[in-house]
Amino acid sequence: MIIVLIGPPGAGKGTQASRLAYTLNVPHVASGDLLRAVSVQDTPLGQQVKSYMVAGQLVPDDLALRIVEERLAQPDAANGVVLDGFPRTLQQAHRLDDVLAGDGRRGVDVAIYIEAAREVVLERMRARRRDDETPEVQVKRYDVYEHDTLPLVAYYRERGTLASINGEQPIDAVTRDIAATVRAHSVGGNSAGADALKPAATAIQAHE
Ligand code: ADP
Repeated sequence: MIIVLIGPPGAGKGTQASRLAYTLNVPHVASGDLLRAVSVQDTPLGQQVKSYMVAGQLVPDDLALRIVEERLAQPDAANGVVLDGFPRTLQQAHRLDDVLAGDGRRGVDVAIYIEAAREVVLERMRARRRDDETPEVQVKRYDVYEHDTLPLVAYYRERGTLASINGEQPIDAVTRDIAATVRAHSVGGNSAGADALKPAATAIQAHE
């Protein structure tokens, strides 16, 4: 299964993506982590990526796509992935569909939208602020999300693949709702991972 997680910074995407990937036994592909690995390289590309990231801006679509595409080409991603942080723009979503079609793969099976209000996520971000991240950058990251990424909700809704989850609940409740949603989307299909989801609630808890 190809699963995409969408949500504002601070919605808990990383935690939920990791739990879901573990349950489905597919890789958790976090574009932010892939880009952070590039940003620490002492190369012109590394410095360029870093400058976008520290400012709370998105890296250019071509670059984000290239890095994720390379990851998707790895053998362990053949049965599916949980994508966390990608796509983040409509352009990236279109190009992801093209890449998957070009590889003869099914498209995105489910896009999970973890919803949480601006004030809620900004408060969470304030509480866990990293040293390299000012409050201004946090607000910037939220605004970029709203402007560039939120349109993906309509994009996937139109394709019938969107599922909205209340991200303001406690972490385990969000995990349960996501597992139930993915299970519902798996029924009737031959998706890898569908069987793995039957004991989802317990398996996910055990992973902590
Ligand atoms: P979060 O803290 O919101 O989970 P991420 O780790 O997903 O943030 O991403 C950190 C930064 O990496 C983003 O602010 C952005 O600069 C860059 N980035 C990550 N994914 C993408 C993407 N798909 N397109 C462009 N930039 C991205």
